[in-house]
Amino acid sequence: MRILLAEDDNMIGSAVREALLQDGYVVDWLRDGPRADAALAAGDYDLVLLDLGLPGKEGLDILRGLRARRKTLPVIIITARDAVESRVAGLDAGADDYLVKPFDLDELAARIRSALRRSAGRTGPGLQLGGVALDLARRSVQRDGAPVTLSAREYAIVEALALRPGAILSRAQLEERMYGWGEEIESNAVEVHIHAIRRKLGAEFIRNVRGVGYYIPRPDGAA
Ligand code: CA
Repeated sequence: MRILLAEDDNMIGSAVREALLQDGYVVDWLRDGPRADAALAAGDYDLVLLDLGLPGKEGLDILRGLRARRKTLPVIIITARDAVESRVAGLDAGADDYLVKPFDLDELAARIRSALRRSAGRTGPGLQLGGVALDLARRSVQRDGAPVTLSAREYAIVEALALRPGAILSRAQLEERMYGWGEEIESNAVEVHIHAIRRKLGAEFIRNVRGVGYYIPRPDGAA
């Protein structure tokens, strides 16, 4: 899961970024409005944490632009503005949730999980794909009832594919789920990780469409 963090306060930004990394998310932290806006236009994110008072461009304007481009990814506003009008404006502009600073990092983590569940159209934290079960809240995986240990990047690949069974993700899309900006992408990393995942979860768990990408078959067998 890749999260864009738009926050100009160093202390809050680094605390939130640290907490998200601990939880296994890939995080891009941007500290001004125009760069956050450009990243959202160019990048493929699963969720945005958006401060309202950002240098260069207000969070609300970024949010309105995002929704005008018909991007539906979940947006959680994080701000010190706790006036009712401000919350209403944020939610009306298309935010999914609103957290007033100072907030508790555990609460933020729970709201992120909840927003991601809703955006994937799920009500609970679990996914079942054949004999493989994913607990998205605990980031744990079981095969036929037995726990399986995946590395953080292996898990990132499995999660990205499992959230949309049947959908093909290209190697570049999987790399986006595995690495933040500035991290060096190892060549063949996707292939190496998928090899390891197949060893742990079954050779047929992840399928390859040559030259296009990878997918996990839908549990009902439909394409
Ligand atoms: Ca700010």
